[in-house]
Amino acid sequence: MTSGAWGGRRAAEALDRVKTVGRAKNLPCFICKLPIDYDLEWPDLMSCSVQHIRSRKAYPELTWVPSNWAGAHLTCNSAAGDGSSDPYDLGATSL
Ligand SMILES: [Zn+2]
Repeated sequence: MTSGAWGGRRAAEALDRVKTVGRAKNLPCFICKLPIDYDLEWPDLMSCSVQHIRSRKAYPELTWVPSNWAGAHLTCNSAAGDGSSDPYDLGATSL
């Protein structure tokens, strides 16, 4: 296992956390600023995914820091990219 990789249980828990906080505070998408329907589930393009405020490529040490997470539509997150084409950055939960 590579500690810097985004995926698996930790990524699923991160998504849960972002969704819980986002739902409670009614937070909009970090990228397009439009509302997120937190009831939608991956792989719906309008579902919530975890966006890294500071990219994992530039700040790998912040990958697992909750304050570096923000909710974003899956499609926005995908379009914005993260400096990489890592499929695990799309909020995918490989359970
Ligand atoms: Zn969006």
